[in-house]
Amino acid sequence: MTDIASCRVCGSALGEPAYCAAAPALTSIMTTLDSETVVHVCPRCSHAQCPNMPDIQAFYDTEYRISLEADDHDQLFAVDAQGQPLYRTDHQAAISLRMLDLSPGALILDYGAAKSDTLRKMVGQRPDIVPHVFDVSSDYAFAWDGWVAPDHQATYTIDAGWHGRFDAVMSHFAIEHVAEPMAFLAQIRAVLKPGGRLLLSMPDVQGNPGDMIVIDHLNHFTAPSIRHALEASGFAVDVLNDTDFPGAFFVSATACNGGATEPVPGVAEAVGRNDEICRFWEKAHGLLKQARDRAAGQRCAIYGAGFYGSWIAQQLEGTVEIAAFLDLNPNLQGREHLGVPVLNPAALDEGVRTIFVGLNPLKARAIIEGMPLFRGRDLEFVWLD
Ligand SMILES: [Zn+2]
Repeated sequence: MTDIASCRVCGSALGEPAYCAAAPALTSIMTTLDSETVVHVCPRCSHAQCPNMPDIQAFYDTEYRISLEADDHDQLFAVDAQGQPLYRTDHQAAISLRMLDLSPGALILDYGAAKSDTLRKMVGQRPDIVPHVFDVSSDYAFAWDGWVAPDHQATYTIDAGWHGRFDAVMSHFAIEHVAEPMAFLAQIRAVLKPGGRLLLSMPDVQGNPGDMIVIDHLNHFTAPSIRHALEASGFAVDVLNDTDFPGAFFVSATACNGGATEPVPGVAEAVGRNDEICRFWEKAHGLLKQARDRAAGQRCAIYGAGFYGSWIAQQLEGTVEIAAFLDLNPNLQGREHLGVPVLNPAALDEGVRTIFVGLNPLKARAIIEGMPLFRGRDLEFVWLD
């Protein structure tokens, strides 16, 4: 692991890490990496950040593609009150159309597009807009052909002919992965027209503390650090939305002249909150170890087959018998995750006495306490906090 000496956003010197954990680490696609996890929190702009991953290139070339080739099982965003599934890209498309408020015939670029499902859905609703796509890989051309003109597709590098061209650029869940987020924003700024609009989405670590230990998320933005990054890159922030997509920021900004480099308000509070999240993870290691010892030899289950549940499974490996993951997502039920079956919680077998709760700790107790099927049963719930 290559340590980092200065902040990826503001360039300030970084001191001692705020968090260190021994290997293994967990990736955003829930694979294990033989690497320690290290987090630094910048005292000047509150940006939390991890050193570059070992073999980052190999990770994106091979492993990461596996999840991108997977079907939509991991893309369920929510289930509405009528029981209808809401898919992530549909939700992103709706937020993007609303926040970008595109003029008729607007030229729009999806930057770091991958398959660009979000833009494809936007074009479905707004056939007047002119889609363009860019990615640092040529693997996705199959998904662009047929609805993005060949000369509106760019891979690896952006031609100078695109500079100053676009009315709007959007980039969904890409900037958290990049080692140089300021260079990333500078390139987006260069392809926008003066007054052009940017929509950026990324995880909100303070709304979803699990993001802090995702090893391939080199950046964990806070509201002040993304504002700082945008203002220093020649953007004026219009709206910073942290509610429409729980656990994520959707930020709209307008290209303007110059770049501010003064820290924005709210830094001290955001630094404090990042430190609390790091302490939460240190404590979670200890709580899990104690619970694991208590549950030795028992059949256990893990509630939640997402990132938190996967982290618990990784930590428990070889110590207790994990009978199942329990998850409400119907697209996961009936599959295996990390070699363990994923079941509807209603199918929990009677022999299980201990349930490790693998949910966002900000919501975990409310979710479990709201489930009637666990009431009256002799179960021990293990919480991460
Ligand atoms: Zn900084």
